Amino acid sequence: MSKICLCLTAKTLARDLEILEKHRKYIDVAELRADCLDPDERFHLRSFPKMAGLPVILTIRRVMDGGKYSGHEGARITLLSKGLAFAEADPRRNFAYVDLEEDLDVPSLEEAARAFGTRIIRSFHNFNGVDPDIAQKLRNLRRVGDEIAKAAVMPKTLDDVKLVYQAARKTKDIEKILLCMGDLGINTRILANSIGSHLSYTSITGEEDIPIASAGQLDPRELGELYRFRKINPKTKVFAVTGFPLTAPISSKFFNTVFKMENIDAVCIPVPSETIQSFLRFGKEIGLKGASITVPHKEAVLPYLSAWSERVSYIGACNTIVAEREGWKGYNTDAQGFSDSLLEFTRLKDLRGKKITIIGAGGVARSVAAEVHRLKGKAIVLNRTVVKAKEIAIPYRFAWGGLDSQGIKMMEKFTDIIIQSTSVGMEPDIEGDPLEFYGFTGKELFVDLIYRPVKTRCLQRAEAKGCKTINGYDMLLRQARYQYKYFIDKEFPASLNNRVEI
Ligand code: NAP
Repeated sequence: MSKICLCLTAKTLARDLEILEKHRKYIDVAELRADCLDPDERFHLRSFPKMAGLPVILTIRRVMDGGKYSGHEGARITLLSKGLAFAEADPRRNFAYVDLEEDLDVPSLEEAARAFGTRIIRSFHNFNGVDPDIAQKLRNLRRVGDEIAKAAVMPKTLDDVKLVYQAARKTKDIEKILLCMGDLGINTRILANSIGSHLSYTSITGEEDIPIASAGQLDPRELGELYRFRKINPKTKVFAVTGFPLTAPISSKFFNTVFKMENIDAVCIPVPSETIQSFLRFGKEIGLKGASITVPHKEAVLPYLSAWSERVSYIGACNTIVAEREGWKGYNTDAQGFSDSLLEFTRLKDLRGKKITIIGAGGVARSVAAEVHRLKGKAIVLNRTVVKAKEIAIPYRFAWGGLDSQGIKMMEKFTDIIIQSTSVGMEPDIEGDPLEFYGFTGKELFVDLIYRPVKTRCLQRAEAKGCKTINGYDMLLRQARYQYKYFIDKEFPASLNNRVEI
């Protein structure tokens, strides 16, 4: 069973201890990163395991290995020796592990560690990629069979991460710590148990004086409580959210919260990927059961589907894939979420007789236009780039125009419902208003698909004139609930409707 390890990177032992106390209930092991301590503090590191009251790793990481120790190598070896010296009969008062880099060849250190039951972690770091022969590299790291081999590597692509999972399968027989650093490697930290990694390193966030030990580390509480690290086992169903860049993996939080509340043996991991092809190769490698596909892959994924819903076929975009025996089946829950939200908001059964303006012609506008057409509405599509508005409008015989005074004039006949689907006014540029030429009368029903901020400038203007308005949050929630249904093959529990937020 993989353990959660908290890296302690404060400047003093007292501060490290304070942080450990605060997070004790989420962790199994602590790593004292003595290289981060003030030089005077390092002389007292021997006392730390007794104070910590849980197994502690002693690490003095050099700058060349991503640490802060820039002193003489002889002095570092002396410090390591001090950490292992004066061993007590009660092993809990000694360091439980010591991290020795692969090139460190000091037999007396190894002897001291072995004599008093301190386990040696033989570590290797690669900040420039993943060695193609990483499985062999892991095997060769251990000088004696009782050492734990550790490889921490920095993938450049998701295919690099795939190599790490392959290496994990090939080295099932050896005790190891295996992880990828950076955002691409977050999944290896969450799935450490599946990889057979002895532990997963974490760092605390939000404390100004405490640096994150290594890029991509999660907070121990997040790893333990949100991702339910300790419950992940070979049978756990793994889902993912992908896109690029994946700045806010909001839906992974939503799914993990629901899986936990419903006691479902599943986890959702954030997996940023520049291309959909490498994401799908990675998904196959780790036995992914499904994924939420976000920008920019919603169209690029289409050629790789073996089956798709009717919505995917008429919209030409897919935001949800589920693994089936024959391959990936695609769904479009953006469209489903949008039309459900719109019909409830307007209290209509369909859009017959309604004249609608769609502002924008990006990815989400495609779903909006298709649903407006399916629900029998008539519409005009206005967009900054007119040719894109035309592309969306023509298949449905909608009108189209530019986002200018002429376009605004044309939309005057389509103002029963106005649907704003551009990114103008979205955080952080909240001053933007794509409809600044248009004066609301108060009779329009106004939908802004942006949900951050809660009220865009445009929505505030509509509201001030007395329009009934809604933002995109309701659609966002509904599309996620449909994704849950496709992932788990079960309706989203109604009891959770107002309890789980995104
Ligand atoms: P997208 O494919 O990148 O499309 C962006 C749209 O915004 C295009 O129509 C683009 O016009 C327009 N635009 C961007 N900057 C502009 C500017 N300065 N002036 C005028 N128009 C501008 O993005 P998307 O995926 O369709 O998403 C659009 C918005 O919908 C985002 O704010 C997103 O958060 C929101 N959304 C909400 C949900 C939900 O569930 N509520 C789901 C998906 C998206 P051009 O074609 O001229 O570039």
